[in-house]
Amino acid sequence: MNPLPRHDHYIAGEWTAPADGGYFASVNPATAEPWYEAARGTAADVDRAVGAARAAFEDPRWRDLSQTRRGRLLRNLGDLIGEHAERLARTESLDNGKLLREMRAQLAGLPEYFHYYAGLADKIQGEVIPGASRELLNYTLREPVGVVGAITPWNSPLLLTTTKLAPALAAGNTVVVKPSEHTSASLLALAPLFEEAGFPPGVVNVVTGYGPEAGAPLTEHPGVSKVTFTGSSATGRRIARICADRLIGCTLELGGKSPNIIFPDADLGSAAMGVIAGIFAAAGQTCVAGSRVLVHQEVYDEVLERVTARAATIRIGDPLEETTELGPLAIAEQLEKVESYVELGRAEGGKVVCGGGRPETGLDGYFYSPTVFTGTDNGMRICQEEIFGPVATVMPFGSEEEALAIANDSAYGLAAGVWTRDVNRVHRMAARLEAGTVWANTYRSMSPMSPRAGFKTSGMGTEHGTEVIREYTRLKSVWVNTSEEPAGDPFILRS
Ligand code: NAD
Repeated sequence: MNPLPRHDHYIAGEWTAPADGGYFASVNPATAEPWYEAARGTAADVDRAVGAARAAFEDPRWRDLSQTRRGRLLRNLGDLIGEHAERLARTESLDNGKLLREMRAQLAGLPEYFHYYAGLADKIQGEVIPGASRELLNYTLREPVGVVGAITPWNSPLLLTTTKLAPALAAGNTVVVKPSEHTSASLLALAPLFEEAGFPPGVVNVVTGYGPEAGAPLTEHPGVSKVTFTGSSATGRRIARICADRLIGCTLELGGKSPNIIFPDADLGSAAMGVIAGIFAAAGQTCVAGSRVLVHQEVYDEVLERVTARAATIRIGDPLEETTELGPLAIAEQLEKVESYVELGRAEGGKVVCGGGRPETGLDGYFYSPTVFTGTDNGMRICQEEIFGPVATVMPFGSEEEALAIANDSAYGLAAGVWTRDVNRVHRMAARLEAGTVWANTYRSMSPMSPRAGFKTSGMGTEHGTEVIREYTRLKSVWVNTSEEPAGDPFILRS
């Protein structure tokens, strides 16, 4: 048997073998076969990468680059990603089992993120503050924070790296990325494009490996000035504790248990498709999955019938096939987790009306059927805990107040969907839903221009949009005395 292809870390523009010589295999979830090996990073590799990023941060080739030119490099990178989109999409699909169609669409949109932040790079600026005295000039500088440590999950590897990388670079930082141990391949395939785009070596570095072995040392490294993380709330909490101890900032994009709420005046056909999009697209492995479906009791039976009828016909199989609608779960542990939650749901008294097991696909991968529960109560664990798989609970409600109460009865607050033709109701719901994103008559829409934040245990800080620049800059206040007068009384404050 041929040995698997091997990938090293990408540090200071060079492929760098792991300090202790270790590698680990990554598995194609559609076949359950390992298909490449990546370097198993340790604290020594992280130290090397942070050192390279720190040197690049101080290097005049990056530090003194005008903001307009910085933007141009981001534009170049976006263009290069566009040229390599097909190869990168295929790599992601092989690595995480998501549909090639979906990864193609994500990759086709990725250049827009870099172009958006390319345009923003030379609009990052301070301001002049009016002072009490005419002689004192006070202005602010918005400076990069330094080396940013970025830690990302497996579900949309390049998209979720880009939402950190593009604004961090636009603001003039340097970055060390630690991708998920399950999906290192696409970022490694992208890495040489950083230098091709014109970024000096060391501005972006990639260290692969496991969370506790490579991710934890990155958050703990004294050379890292800011951590940005997307992943589970449990890991986010761990990272936040370390950052609190180090007194550095962190941006956290975490889990969700989002409600998708259908009122009786909605276009029920579209709403049912919105439910399918919310929970069965990407096999439910999206942070914004609409896993709690709340349906007004007047239309409950009709919506349930439409959803289960469509769910039962979802084509499950090879994610590379054009006609496939649902691929495998990304990792074996995820399949076990979904199976155990479905068992738990049954034990809690829920009724499986669709799916509830592993389908026949003829493939050895980690497939699970689209599953719908009825008879659940929002207090049950399957309604409170993130499953991160194709499992929906469909619950009835009687009034707007009740829908809001159930929707907000969650530790999470990432997203929510509302389906109604009543425009007043849309705005009432949007104002009162405890979620960072609210969609009305659509689900899973996103753009680089629109901010994304997690409320409650779904996160801290924002991504996307212009606000995110604050996450990657620090504000300095500069005071200049322009007066020629001799200094006054040293024992009183000047303002
Ligand atoms: P995870 O928390 O298990 O891992 C995420 C990353 O953290 C990986 O790179 C992992 O190696 C690393 N990690 C693990 N332990 C660590 C530690 N102790 N220190 C530092 N790094 C560590 O999450 P996952 O299973 O890869 O991803 C799924 C989760 O991500 C879900 O909860 C999902 O909701 C969430 N997610 C959130 C968003 C969002 O925008 N809010 C987007 C996508 C996914």
